[in-house]
Amino acid sequence: MSHEPDLVLHSEVQLADLPLRPELVGVEPYGAPQLDVPVRLNVNENPYPPSDHVREAMGKAVGRAASGLNRYPDREALELRRDLAHYLGFGLGVDQVWAANGSNEVMVHLLQAFGGPGRKLMSFAPTYSMYPEYARGTNTEYVSVPRHADFTLDADLVCAAVEEHHPDLILIATPNNPTGTVVPVQVIAEICERVECLVIVDEAYQEFTELPEDSALALLPRYGHLIVIRTMSKAFAYAGGRLGYLAAASAVVDACRIVRLPYHLSTVSQVAARAALANAHEMLDQVEGLREASQGLQLWLRRMGLTVVASQANFCLFGRFSDRHAVWQGLLDRGVLVREIGPEGFLRVSVGTREELDGFKQALVEILPSAERMG
Ligand SMILES: *Cc1c(COP(=O)(O)O)cnc(C)c1O
Repeated sequence: MSHEPDLVLHSEVQLADLPLRPELVGVEPYGAPQLDVPVRLNVNENPYPPSDHVREAMGKAVGRAASGLNRYPDREALELRRDLAHYLGFGLGVDQVWAANGSNEVMVHLLQAFGGPGRKLMSFAPTYSMYPEYARGTNTEYVSVPRHADFTLDADLVCAAVEEHHPDLILIATPNNPTGTVVPVQVIAEICERVECLVIVDEAYQEFTELPEDSALALLPRYGHLIVIRTMSKAFAYAGGRLGYLAAASAVVDACRIVRLPYHLSTVSQVAARAALANAHEMLDQVEGLREASQGLQLWLRRMGLTVVASQANFCLFGRFSDRHAVWQGLLDRGVLVREIGPEGFLRVSVGTREELDGFKQALVEILPSAERMG
């Protein structure tokens, strides 16, 4: 054969040889470094594994489901959604809850349904670094508006930005990542009163707050354009299970059902998540301790003379360092992984076990004398 197109050189083909979408050229795959070090405090996970009892329940559920794995899963994931509605409370029905592989995928469903070319998503910086990724992946324009200097948000700031930019969707994280700051429910209510675009509230860390029941879920009966996103990845100690969900008017769920890939949630995902939900008390067992540990850690960091952003989540920003990368590297050299993220000079640390936090503190104490601070 004389005709041999370049692409046939499978083993040597370079990304630049492939017809990549132009907007993806030069883009790096997103994600925090996954490094195998003793103390990993960089992605806000619950550091406590499921109990033996829950582990057994999950194993049994998956074992039972295995006999049906020749069949496709329940496309509507109805039993799981019913369990999630029950877990959330607030009188929510199964038709008001939607689930997917992590809240990441829930967000993509929302943007596939309500974003896309010619549509605009607005959020408030600094905030979750995945938001622009969702927008890019769905060809949605992303507009980032700065928060107040103390990283809080109020209705006037949000509404002025809506008037200026005319977004189709606004996205507010509370507690916000990476700042840990909360937007009170009254503020969300005022925003819902004053704007007509969709209002998405990302409550990924809600269970860690001082008042977990003080949730935007309570507003759902009043506002058809409000969408509340939750995840099992953080307080619920189920990051590896990949299960996120939303609560909203049933029409929003119908929109997600149009754009989701059929069978997006595997049978294994559905039954394992249900087993976890059936043991919600145990899964959430450590949340109160983590909440206290978070406050204790923030206090300790302040006592060390550092600036700390008051956080109601299981992480906080601390700094500010003239060379935060050097501090990050110094911690890593001592087996402690934190996140180099957030406003200039800050690092973000997640709340780990007592041993992990001791490791972090010890390493930081060693580094601080030589770590120059910002003015
Ligand atoms: C961690 C996090 C999530 C969770 O994403 P999953 O896909 O559910 O694991 C969502 N929103 C914010 C702000 C987060 O920090």
